[in-house]
Amino acid sequence: MTSGTTPASDRTASDRTAGVDLAGRTALVTGAGSGIGRACAAALAAAGARVHVVDMDARAAVSVAEEIGGHSHVVDLARADLIEGLPADIDILVNNAGLQHVAPLTEFPPDRFELIQRVMVHAPFLLLRRTLPHMRARGWGRIVNISSVHGLRASAFKAGYVTAKHALEGLSKVAALEGAPHGITSNCVNPGYVRTPLVEQQIAAQASAHGIDPERVVGEVMLSRSAIKRLIEPEEVAAVAVWLCGPHTGYLTGASIPLDGGWTGA
Ligand code: NAD
Repeated sequence: MTSGTTPASDRTASDRTAGVDLAGRTALVTGAGSGIGRACAAALAAAGARVHVVDMDARAAVSVAEEIGGHSHVVDLARADLIEGLPADIDILVNNAGLQHVAPLTEFPPDRFELIQRVMVHAPFLLLRRTLPHMRARGWGRIVNISSVHGLRASAFKAGYVTAKHALEGLSKVAALEGAPHGITSNCVNPGYVRTPLVEQQIAAQASAHGIDPERVVGEVMLSRSAIKRLIEPEEVAAVAVWLCGPHTGYLTGASIPLDGGWTGA
């Protein structure tokens, strides 16, 4: 932003969207009631997109939709039948909803493992099946998969999550290949630890798994492999998601963009 006379509110919106104009585009963001999904929904709306806010938490979905002028859909993404009720005429799909469970493999509850795959792999697959025909018909589409550094690297005690994120990486690459002839790109964004409620819950879980105090978890466990010794903010992840929908990234597809403070670079 160059104008010194631009109101602060406009400066904020433009800074957040890096000049990306999504007027006339429709986005669907899963898990948009909290954390990274909420930041993505807000940034896409600020860029001019019509945004469908999907979350199983009714209060959060309605509140975010009201906040950003979007449409709320209260859906449990573990339920394939409910996914069928979501809109299909979507130009931008952000597969973001996720959950974590921390336990050694031998103690990992099979039902939690299965639930994680349903929400973080099967739901993105079903949403791609549902929305790709519309993107193809328009000759333009953007798929942004919120993966993780754990889509590229493993950590102990996270069998369900690491398995799901690696699967999402594969799904994203197939969508990139099949979408390419139709102006559709598909990419993963791979954050390290982001300051969200999911991470706040993990700090307590990791403390118990590693047998150390919660206050030591962030510095000694979470950030031990990151060169940058701070959590990343949800808005920093959302800025990359919006950039992937902008005018200069049409050749960028099938990629995984690390936002991990140097974790995978070392
Ligand atoms: P969060 O817990 O703050 O938000 C997740 C949202 O997903 C919640 O609103 C929750 O209600 C919703 N959700 C969960 N299960 C659902 C279901 N079955 N149906 C519908 N909605 C459901 O989490 P976050 O930290 O913002 O994480 C979002 C995504 O980013 C996840 O895929 C996560 O794996 C990924 N990620 C997070 C971090 C991090 O450090 N926070 C790092 C890398 C990747």
